[in-house]
Amino acid sequence: MTVATLYIIATPIGNLEDITYRAVRILGEVDLIAAEDTRHSLKLLNHFGISKPLTSYFDHNQQFKGERILNALRQGKSVALISDAGTPCISDPGYQLVCDAVAEQIKVVPVPGACAAVAALSASGLPTDAFTFAGFPPSRQGKRRTFLAGVSDLPGTLVLYEAPHRLLDTLTDIREVLGERRVIVARELSKIYEEFIRGTASEVISAVSQGIVRGEVVILVAPGEAALQETEPLEQVLRRLMAGGALSIKDIAKQAAIISGVSRSEAYAEALKLKNSGD
Ligand code: SAM
Repeated sequence: MTVATLYIIATPIGNLEDITYRAVRILGEVDLIAAEDTRHSLKLLNHFGISKPLTSYFDHNQQFKGERILNALRQGKSVALISDAGTPCISDPGYQLVCDAVAEQIKVVPVPGACAAVAALSASGLPTDAFTFAGFPPSRQGKRRTFLAGVSDLPGTLVLYEAPHRLLDTLTDIREVLGERRVIVARELSKIYEEFIRGTASEVISAVSQGIVRGEVVILVAPGEAALQETEPLEQVLRRLMAGGALSIKDIAKQAAIISGVSRSEAYAEALKLKNSGD
């Protein structure tokens, strides 16, 4: 085991099969595991037959616990950080610990795995070439509306986390502030009742209003008109990139797709057409 290393280890967001071989191996090898909730993580560790010294690391003890964890690292020990579910530091504790470790030139190694935002986006059918993950919106309506106004014109898909009891209020504010866009609620990802509720903001609000939404949810919102209108037209982007003369058609198509918000195959076909026309 590499010494004096802080491993940031993703754990499942529901289905235990989503842990990686590498995560299990490293959790079994480190000197210390720092967990957001030790009782919660013990269930996961027991399931995989991992028995290692465990300490807690959560929002309210991070100053004091962070120092103890850093001390272990300074002594050359290896530490794994895990949260209750998914990737640590993503709307979960860990950011300050990583900053402090980086500042002391301690090696920080990510062990990738489940993340609800990325899982939801990947199956959403909304643009994936650019997206903004904005975490949890504020819980108060006034602040939430200001926050939504601030992200309204960003290009790409907007990805939010939300508590189920605030879902309807937040969806209502999304329709109010962002307008009638395509919205998706990804619920209980990787669990038995996994569900994608898709439609316009109003359709999703209507579906969600039918009953009580239980479990965990990710909200995804399609980019708005302003963001779409601001994107440079495909042909213009292609001509600009081709004029440089340094890129292959494949690379030009890749970049043009990102800039103008079209699929790579569409950009590639258009690039070939332009090249062959000799314009
Ligand atoms: N670090 C985690 C990650 O990588 O996704 C996120 C932790 S954050 C405290 C918890 C929020 O993530 C939930 O309120 C919900 O918005 C989202 N979430 C986590 N697991 C989920 C799941 N299985 N299905 C849908 N959303 C989930």
